[in-house]
Amino acid sequence: MDPPLISDGQLRACSPEESYEEILPFPKSPIGCLVYLLKNENFENKRINEWVTAFSKLLAEKRECDFELLSSLPSNYSFYSLIYSPGISQNHISEEIQEDSTSKRKYEEKILILGHPSGLPFIEMDSFSKHLEWLESMCQNKCQCPLCPYNRLKIQPKSQIHYIEALYWLKKNSKFIEPFFKSFTKVKSIYIEDINNFFRSGETTQTQIDEFFKFIEQLDVNNDDNEEIQNKIEKHLNNIPPSINIEPKLLYNKRKEVKGETAKTVIVTINLFKDLFYNIFINFIIFFL
Ligand SMILES: [Zn+2]
Repeated sequence: MDPPLISDGQLRACSPEESYEEILPFPKSPIGCLVYLLKNENFENKRINEWVTAFSKLLAEKRECDFELLSSLPSNYSFYSLIYSPGISQNHISEEIQEDSTSKRKYEEKILILGHPSGLPFIEMDSFSKHLEWLESMCQNKCQCPLCPYNRLKIQPKSQIHYIEALYWLKKNSKFIEPFFKSFTKVKSIYIEDINNFFRSGETTQTQIDEFFKFIEQLDVNNDDNEEIQNKIEKHLNNIPPSINIEPKLLYNKRKEVKGETAKTVIVTINLFKDLFYNIFINFIIFFL
């Protein structure tokens, strides 16, 4: 079965800055946070196959035609796997933890859909259903999917990974996904890097995480003037020591915000390590102190 006739999928939004075609072996060391995006077009994958079967059925009912599997996602939408393996003392993005038999590294694999004009991910495949139905209706009325309210956000490919991770953190730690999600997009983009830094920091305790979410919860989505609470969040995040386990790119982006020799030294060290490991694992970020 063909996907809906029209698609609003955007190439920019389904081409993250760093993504990979195939999975590479995990490093033996449990140190350092490994995170990367893998383009996943394997319709045989159990979870993708279940999704395709369910939504093919939904479309078949709408079209009043015989049930047959969808041949693809709408154009410029793609499945991606987020492979997430934090260091031994760091936090995971979910409870569904697997272990790699060779390296014994713990990791999670989450399947998401990219391509939405906002640049945001559908972190739950099911949440794409509303959008698919809307495309099938030739974009009549207002789309009821969770991302369309953020159409104008236009997240750049280089920042997508931060949003993807941050949304998984929100999903794991928030009891109120929807309001949190809305508040979250009001937060300055610099916080997105901080949020990931926060969660990847080995010393981040559950108490700190709870405190952090208490602040985020106070953001009023109907009020553009959240200065006071934003200051509190900023202060809270500023007290988190920078994690040495974050990606060089992430720290590089933060350089504008961090002043002083220490930061420069860290960046130089990281670049050296980056060059050293680049040919071995271009997608693994490992730091040994
Ligand atoms: Zn939508």
